[in-house]
Amino acid sequence: MNASAAVSAPAPWWRAYPEIWRAEIEALTVAGASWGEEPPGAPDGGPTPAVDAPEPLTLRLRWPHPAPQPGDPAALTLLATFAAHHPWFPPRVRLPEPLAGLRRHRNPVDGGLCLLASDDDWRPGTTLAQLLSEQLPRLLAAGRDPGTDAATLALEAGAEAAWTRVRLAWGGLLVDSACAPPAEVPGGWADLVRISGTVAPVSALVTLLDPEHRVLWESRAFGLRQAARVRWARLPGLPPEAADTGELWRRATERLVGLGAEQTRCDEPNAVVVLVPSEGAGRRSCEEWLLLTRGVLRGEGPKAAVAPAEPEDLDGSDQPDGPGQQAPAGEQLALFGDADLPQPPTDTGPADPVADALRVRVRRGYPAGRDDLTARLPGAPGHLAGTTVSVVGVGALGGPLALELARAGVGRLHLVDGDLHDPATGARQLLTIRDAGSPKALALALRILDTNPHVQLTVGLRPLGGDDGTELAGLAASDLVIDGTANQAATRFLAAHLRVSGTPLVIAAATAGGWGGTITTLPSSGGGCWECLQWHRADRTVPWPPARPDGALTPVGCSHPTYVGGWFDLGAIALQATRTALAVLAAGPADTPPAARFGDVQVLTQYRRGRPVHPRWQTRPLAVHPACPLHPPPADRPAAAGHASPGAGADA
Ligand SMILES: [Zn+2]
Repeated sequence: MNASAAVSAPAPWWRAYPEIWRAEIEALTVAGASWGEEPPGAPDGGPTPAVDAPEPLTLRLRWPHPAPQPGDPAALTLLATFAAHHPWFPPRVRLPEPLAGLRRHRNPVDGGLCLLASDDDWRPGTTLAQLLSEQLPRLLAAGRDPGTDAATLALEAGAEAAWTRVRLAWGGLLVDSACAPPAEVPGGWADLVRISGTVAPVSALVTLLDPEHRVLWESRAFGLRQAARVRWARLPGLPPEAADTGELWRRATERLVGLGAEQTRCDEPNAVVVLVPSEGAGRRSCEEWLLLTRGVLRGEGPKAAVAPAEPEDLDGSDQPDGPGQQAPAGEQLALFGDADLPQPPTDTGPADPVADALRVRVRRGYPAGRDDLTARLPGAPGHLAGTTVSVVGVGALGGPLALELARAGVGRLHLVDGDLHDPATGARQLLTIRDAGSPKALALALRILDTNPHVQLTVGLRPLGGDDGTELAGLAASDLVIDGTANQAATRFLAAHLRVSGTPLVIAAATAGGWGGTITTLPSSGGGCWECLQWHRADRTVPWPPARPDGALTPVGCSHPTYVGGWFDLGAIALQATRTALAVLAAGPADTPPAARFGDVQVLTQYRRGRPVHPRWQTRPLAVHPACPLHPPPADRPAAAGHASPGAGADA
C-alpha cells in the first residue's frame, strides 16, 4: 500500500489498488459467497464495479449462514459498503432483514452490524470475507444470547440504549438523571425551556408534573428562561425493535388519553416527551427520555401554523382547530428545527403537505444533571459542589481558570472584573466577538453556564478598589480566591487582607510575551507573605521568570500598558493555576498549609534567548524574609506596608 499514490490518484480504490480488489473477490469466492453491486450495476460477480467514481461501493452479498438455527435461511443477505478510501477504513456491513432472536449488535434502524468493537480493531490487510468469517459467528452468538453472564458481558462494547433504535434528529433534550418519576406515574406535564437553536434545537426539561399538575421534580438550573408546558408519557411496553417515529407519537398520545393531559391544555401541542425502556451499562434496565415533535407547516406570520390533527384524534375533544391555528411557543422554544418546518408545497412539486406536516422527529434525552456533566472526571468531584471560589480578574488567566473550575465541579463561583470585553484580546481570551463591549465577568458567567448550568454564579462588575467596599467581605468568606488581575495594587490589597482572614489565595501572573509566569499560593508553607516574596525576588533567592523586553503594549484610550502574549503560551500558567487551585480545595487537615503540594512559589520559564522551549517549572518555598515588617501578622487589620517593601514586581 502506498500512501502518496492514494492521495494523488482520483481513481476509485479498486483501480488504485487492483491487487486488493482481486484479493477481496477471491476471498469472497473461497468463502462461498455470491455478490452483486447495490444498486445493481455490473452482472453479479463481474470483473470490476460498474461505478467508476471514488465513492463508497456497496455490494449485496449472499453469505453462507455460519450458525443457522431452526427457521433461519441457509444464506444471509448482507449489504457491505466499502469506504471511498478502502482499505484505510473498515467496510460497513448491514443485515437489512431482522434475524429472529438477534436482539443485540445489530442496529434496528439501519441494520448495521457491530463486527468490530472499534475502528481501531481494523487492520487494512484484512479482506471483507476474513472479517465476516472471523467476526460474524461471534456476533451472532453474542447477539442471540439472552444471558448476562460475565463471558457474555465481556463481549459487549456498550449498552444498547433506546435512542439507538430510533432515527434521531439533530439537537436534544437535556434532562437531569435525578428526574426519575415514580413507577406508578403514567405521564403528565413537563416544562421545557429553550437552550439553543444555533445548530439544532436544544431544550431542557425543568419541571415534571403529574396529571393533576403536582410537581414531581424540579430543576434548579436553567433559570431566567420562559418555559412551555408540554405533555409527557411513560411507554413501558415499547418493543426492543426499531421504533417508527410516527408509531412512537401514536403510542404516546394514546397513553395520554384518559390522563386528563389533553393537548389543548398545554403550550405546545406538537411536542411530547416520552420515557421509554432502555438499557444501561452491563445490560442494566433503565428508562430514557426522548422528545417527540410533530412537524408543523411554516406559517405566513412569525408564528408557525399547526398542521391538521391526525385521523386518530378526530373524534376526541382534544383536536386542534385545524390549519391556521397558532402554535404559541414552538419556534421560540427551539423545540423544532428548520427541518421540522417544511415549506408549503409549490405548484411544481408533488409534495404531500399533510404527510410532511405530520412528520414526527425524535431527539435524544441527554443526561445533564450536576453529576451527569462531570461524568468524565477521573474522580467524583462531590466535595467541590459545596465550595465557593472567587476569581478576581477574568482575563486571559482568570477567565479560562474560572471555566475549568466550573468543569471540575466547583459549586459556586464569584467573578469580579470591572472591564468590558475588547475583541482585540481574542488571541487569549474565552470571550468572543459576540461579547464586544459587554462586562467581561457577566459574559464569562454566561459562557460558564453554557458549560455547567448547575454552578451558582455571582458577579462583581466594578474593579477591586472601585467598588463600595463590600466586595472584600465576600472574597474573605470564599474557600479560595484567585487573583488574575495582573495589577500590583489589587494583588497587594488581596494578599494583605486575605492574610488576616486566613483565606487561601492563588496569584497567577504571566510575563510580557508569555515568556514565563509565577503562581504564588498563600498562606505559604514557609510562613512568608506576599511582601516577603518581593524581598526574596530583590535578593534573587526566588527567580524571576523571563519577560519579553519589547512585550508591553499600550492600547488606544488606555493609560495602563498591557502585554503581548497568546493563549498557547499563557494557557500553561492558567492550567497549572487551575491544578493548584484544585489541590488547595482538595487539601485536608493533614495538608496544611495547602501550598505544600506544588510549592509556595511556582516559576515558569518557556522561552530562552527569545525562542520557545519546553515549559520548565521551578518551585521555591516562601520563607519569612528578615526585612519584612509584617511578622507576626497583626490581629485585626493588615499594615499598609507597600512602601516598606522593595516594590512592585515585573509580572504583568
Ligand atoms: Zn512578609
